Amino acid sequence: MLHIGAHLSAAKGFLHMGKEALSIQADTFQFFTRNPRGGAAKDLNPQDILAFQELAETHGFQPILAHAPYTLNPAAANPETRAFALQVMADDMKRMEALPHNLYNFHPGSHVGQGASVGITRICDILNTILTPEQNTTVLLETMSGKGSEIGSTFEELSEIIQRTVCQDKIGVCLDTCHVYSAGYDIRQDLDGVLEHFDRVIGLNRLKAIHLNDSLTPFDSHKDRHEKLGKGSLGLEAIIRFVTHPALKEKPFFLETPQDDITGYKNEIALLRAAVD
Ligand code: FE
Ligand code: FE
Ligand code: ZN
Repeated sequence: MLHIGAHLSAAKGFLHMGKEALSIQADTFQFFTRNPRGGAAKDLNPQDILAFQELAETHGFQPILAHAPYTLNPAAANPETRAFALQVMADDMKRMEALPHNLYNFHPGSHVGQGASVGITRICDILNTILTPEQNTTVLLETMSGKGSEIGSTFEELSEIIQRTVCQDKIGVCLDTCHVYSAGYDIRQDLDGVLEHFDRVIGLNRLKAIHLNDSLTPFDSHKDRHEKLGKGSLGLEAIIRFVTHPALKEKPFFLETPQDDITGYKNEIALLRAAVD
């Protein structure tokens, strides 16, 4: 069975997101831990969390995926920018423990002229500060498109971050199909080759979530522009091959396609389920 969710608004709480997920035939969802541009997080409501956990258990939900604000830059040269990333991520880690055994995804960051190796050291410093052997959350590095000086557009860079992290059993990867295709991994024409490469360098056991998006821009364009499934350069056939690949079909998929409302996600999930289930 296909495990799939979409990116939902957290404004009305976890129970609301759980119900929204059910209404679109999803068994998980992604949400921002706070305003995507940073800022303070809303207080968690223990009753809301309990009600969501009951609903998730009743309906056999998969782990849910929290997304860190995308403006954080753990690799920044500016110490204040790094301190802000550390503070937000440490706070998110604490809050995630109120919803144990879920996933937390973040963008590794941009080195902005310092070079990837300095940037990677800075990312690892933050991970080695916030991760603890006791935590119940798995932190995911997102594969990036490589726009500007983004770190994490190659499997080798992600592997290096993982290798230099102390609590390696708390670290995984979230593969974004739009980003990897834009980064120059040809998942349209050589999916097996890309997955072999991923397995050799990172290990498919570390692949904990997939952002399922088509790409508005061409292969290897190093841009980050999501498109609706089947409307971009990847195309629907490649996307169906992706979600049905034996090495991937049990993984949870999360739609981050541009939609006017939740009906757009609902239609995409129905399309995938018709092709897969
Ligand atoms: Fe992301
Ligand atoms: Fe993504
Ligand atoms: Zn993106």
